[in-house]
Amino acid sequence: MADDMDDEDGRMQEEEGREDDGDDPEELDGDLDDDIIQEDEDDDSPAEEDDDNNEGLLRRLRLHIRGRLDRDRVQKRPTKVTYDASLPTTHSYLGNDLEEYSGRTVLDEDSYVSLPLLHLPGVILVPGQTLPLHLFNQRIISMMKHVIQNNRTFGMIHDGHNMQPGHDESPANIGTTAEIYSAKEEEDSGVETMRIKATGRQRFQIMETRRQADGILIGRVRIITESVLPDPLEGARCSSHDRLRLIPPLKQAKGVERDMAWIKQRRKRYLRPAQWTWIPPWVYEMYDAEVLMLHIKTELKSWFEDSVKFDTVPSKPSDFSFWVASNIPLADSQRLKLLEINCPVQRLRRELDILRKCTLLHCTECGLDIANKSDVFSMSLDGPMAAYVNPGGYVHDTLTLYSAHNLNLVGRPTKENSWFPGYAWTILQCRHCTNHMGWKFTAVKRKLKPEMFWGLTRSAVQPGFKDTQDQLHLI
Ligand SMILES: [Zn+2]
Repeated sequence: MADDMDDEDGRMQEEEGREDDGDDPEELDGDLDDDIIQEDEDDDSPAEEDDDNNEGLLRRLRLHIRGRLDRDRVQKRPTKVTYDASLPTTHSYLGNDLEEYSGRTVLDEDSYVSLPLLHLPGVILVPGQTLPLHLFNQRIISMMKHVIQNNRTFGMIHDGHNMQPGHDESPANIGTTAEIYSAKEEEDSGVETMRIKATGRQRFQIMETRRQADGILIGRVRIITESVLPDPLEGARCSSHDRLRLIPPLKQAKGVERDMAWIKQRRKRYLRPAQWTWIPPWVYEMYDAEVLMLHIKTELKSWFEDSVKFDTVPSKPSDFSFWVASNIPLADSQRLKLLEINCPVQRLRRELDILRKCTLLHCTECGLDIANKSDVFSMSLDGPMAAYVNPGGYVHDTLTLYSAHNLNLVGRPTKENSWFPGYAWTILQCRHCTNHMGWKFTAVKRKLKPEMFWGLTRSAVQPGFKDTQDQLHLI
């Protein structure tokens, strides 16, 4: 099957979801052209420089396997969604027989602990993010068994190899603890495998590492403290006026009008003591976590509109900033930079800056436009982007969109192991450079809405914007 192709990075390009109930009488609707067609280089591809040596060879090989053009381009944001957005959050493709663990391990902030460390290509775990794993490596499986018997916590680390040009390439010495909340080991024809679901918890700094005799990397790490700044106006505030700081319920309808009214109220009730200081109130407002969160939500509405319910996202500035970091399509270096920031206010300011600049998503390899930011659409309660693991064990951060362009389809739709139960997937590649971009999902049952959507893998797209000369800029 064409679905099982590896791309040149050795990444498996399939998808999952063991929800194969087989009771759906209706046919997959996608047009089933030839799986793989060979064709010469396209007419309308953007100009690019000549590749050399290996790069050129790889490119020629990839052009040899070129899919058919994806002609579907849904222009309108789906207004009617019948899909149960809680389904993808369960990662049901990993099976429903995983053993659940209760309780939570909180490591003391600023403490030094020893943790087994795991590195997976393409994974930069953010606190609060769910990490599904499908493990085949016996060494890592025995490490996980040991972890489960202890505090169920291991460390996810990253290296700097995937840094984009122009960014510093120092290895990241920061990681995130992952706490296992369900797991299942099984033996298949004498080979042991393990399925795991874990959640990102606390950031840590790697102080030193050593490799055990069994090959497992153990790190001595320091758990990083979030620097939550005290109220800068505390000294100028009169505590007897505290009750006046409560913002009354706002009667304004919705949207921008309501947000502006809220900011006005906050200025009046929180920033009034600023007049007793030598710093103007607007400076305080620039560093006010609540105001920054409101601005970010306003920006995100231009991305997701109402497909994300903001009352279900974390309300604490620190947790909210991590939720944003895990839901916007950033390059590895950008995501790492956000993780390196210790102060939620600084993190929120950086995120707001990125969100305000970004207007489109383009192919990481060749820079071809793939989607606009307003095409992003959430199909999961976790938000528009989440990590999913394929049957080969490769974890993809996948961003869902209701529209995307300049893509080719490779292979036939299949519902086997679908990350979104009820949808069949087809591999997508960039129309120009044939880089693997993700998957197109098409509804298996006719009543399911939306009928189709696109899931792009984070490593394949980068945020950017175009200037007035139509010149593309990275963020
Ligand atoms: Zn491309």
